[in-house]
Amino acid sequence: MAPSCPVCRSVRIETRQYGKKVGGTIGAVAGATSGAALVLSGAEVGAIAGAVAGPVGSAFGAITGSVLAMLIGGATGCAAGAAFGEVIDDNVLDKYRCADCGYTFGSRPS
Ligand SMILES: [Zn+2]
Repeated sequence: MAPSCPVCRSVRIETRQYGKKVGGTIGAVAGATSGAALVLSGAEVGAIAGAVAGPVGSAFGAITGSVLAMLIGGATGCAAGAAFGEVIDDNVLDKYRCADCGYTFGSRPS
């Protein structure tokens, strides 16, 4: 069901997802940071796996493992942060803004 403005009944409603955006950004940073901790183990695993192919394979494996750890950490953190921010949007912030009268309101009638 599309939300409508409680003041003027307009259905031209903009969704403001501050929490989701901020949460996603914070989560991505936090995830990449914790991913950096995984980089060491990722590099280690990659180096061991790559060692089968010789020294070049070992270096390549270490880089691949590091990058993967960063990507996975960042993506996981971003998803978690966005999900958390969405909860904030739903429960705390005024999520919707009326394009006609400028009134802001949450998803639940207050
Ligand atoms: Zn309105």
